[in-house]
Amino acid sequence: MTEIISFGADIQQLLQFFINSIYTNKEIFLRELISNSSDAINKKIIQQTDFIPKILINTDIEKRTLFLSDNGIGMDKEEIKKNIGTIASSHTKLQREKIEELIGQFGVGFYSVYLVADKVSILTRKQLGDKLVFWESYSNQQSYSLTCVEEQKEQEEEEYGYEMQMKQMIKYFYNHHRKDSSATLIALRIKNNCSEYLTNERINSIIKKHSDFIQFPIYNGSNKINSQTPLWCRNKEEIQEEDYRQLYKSITATQLNPETDYFSHQFINTEGNLNFKCIFFIPKKQNFNFDNQQIIKGNVKLYVKKVFITDELEIFPDYLNFIKCVIDSDDLPLNISREFIQQNKIIAQIKKVILKKVFQQFNVSDDQFYFQYSKNLKLGICSDDDHKQQLSNLLKFKSVKQKQITLQQYCDNLKPEQKEIFFYCGNDPESPLINGLLQKDYDVLLFDEPIDEHMIQVLRDYQGKELINCGRIGCGKFFEDKQDQEKQKKIKEIIQKKHNYLEDVQFSSQSGCYPGAVVVGQYGWTCGMEKIMNQQVLSDNQMFEH
Ligand code: ADP
Ligand code: MG
Repeated sequence: MTEIISFGADIQQLLQFFINSIYTNKEIFLRELISNSSDAINKKIIQQTDFIPKILINTDIEKRTLFLSDNGIGMDKEEIKKNIGTIASSHTKLQREKIEELIGQFGVGFYSVYLVADKVSILTRKQLGDKLVFWESYSNQQSYSLTCVEEQKEQEEEEYGYEMQMKQMIKYFYNHHRKDSSATLIALRIKNNCSEYLTNERINSIIKKHSDFIQFPIYNGSNKINSQTPLWCRNKEEIQEEDYRQLYKSITATQLNPETDYFSHQFINTEGNLNFKCIFFIPKKQNFNFDNQQIIKGNVKLYVKKVFITDELEIFPDYLNFIKCVIDSDDLPLNISREFIQQNKIIAQIKKVILKKVFQQFNVSDDQFYFQYSKNLKLGICSDDDHKQQLSNLLKFKSVKQKQITLQQYCDNLKPEQKEIFFYCGNDPESPLINGLLQKDYDVLLFDEPIDEHMIQVLRDYQGKELINCGRIGCGKFFEDKQDQEKQKKIKEIIQKKHNYLEDVQFSSQSGCYPGAVVVGQYGWTCGMEKIMNQQVLSDNQMFEH
């Protein structure tokens, strides 16, 4: 006996809404079906272990039908009523925005089939000996039909005037799942403009992309398509370096090359309040092009329970955009909307943990790393207040006395009376601007990258020690020379008369053995800043201003 049951709400409008405004990439319908199958198998495994789990896909091009079946837990009539069709009844009375929010949180799951299908049928059995339950709906209908198929009738299907679709499905069910105590078969009649979803090539590539790590085998015809166990679900101790290299290869879609792959990697596995796994890599080569500000996408791949969700998640601030990483969360729902993922509280927590680990991974003694990423670190100081101090620990500069020195090392070698860190933007250790400092045996940092000076304006001090720019007027006060004030006054007058562009004339021993030096006012542009403007680094900096 066939029951016709109304969806009970304006599902038509709701489906239209899903289809037009939520799902922009139709291919995810397959991901949703496969993950439902995987869930169903998982539920069955808890009760029963004497079966070989499988998820099976087949197509019938002539009938434009895609079949997907699993030998998971199945559904009885009441369950199918309750499970398939609830979103409609519980959501339609809500506001459009509210629906959008709910979908963002919970996903639309099964309903995504209507992105590609105009008719959907389900045939399922919960237990050997149970009747098969046949469910069917068209996307332009407001109701679905439910039929229970008596067991003894199944074999004699021809004699019973079942609808063609049901006949074909029963046949398929018995061909593939006769021995399975429970199973579910879903048949999608693919819309005319979605024919690609009937081709093996497309189906296989979607499985590879979204469902490669589903733990049960997924067959397309007789070929197993997915590779099943992702690296991050294996025991950390068992993982070999070669495994990491293969993962790196697959997430970066590049050929492996020891010259260009990664400096280091890290495996994070947190359990408890927050459950996620993450493997990240620090590549050997920069992938951000500072000249045209192109950020390479796809650096962060997010999975939820081994199902690929997106590679457009922004988890790192821009300056750390070089880090490649996979994240697999057990806490997130299979989410559909990127906007909602970005705002998600769990994502925010995950982000925090990963960032902390990333900073631990940065090693101040790794010169190759610094050579590759110094600019990123400096951009980070300018843009990321929370990590400014941590980043500054990694900086290295040339100095008058040292080939390379960290701020910490500089501070460790201050003269007893010295309380400041002196830097000079330029490469010339003979400069009059620093000669006085050298006479006192102070070391002076030599900044030679255009971004340095800009960065230091943001950093201002290191461990409470003020950073002093020798090219600015303030520096002179550390060498003030107050002898013979009368004479100084006269000299000042003469100089200012001759060079009326000078704002002020001060007397100090900053210039050492030189008679004097021209410095820039406290807020004026230094030569270094002018260089920045010329090189348009400031426009690069716009990338960290949001
Ligand atoms: P969700 O997976 O988030 O629960 P879905 O809309 O994807 O939402 O699925 C709704 C429900 O339908 C599932 O929770 C499950 O109870 C049932 N279901 C869907 N597909 C299957 C299947 N292949 N086998 C058994 N039950 C299923
Ligand atoms: Mg689902």
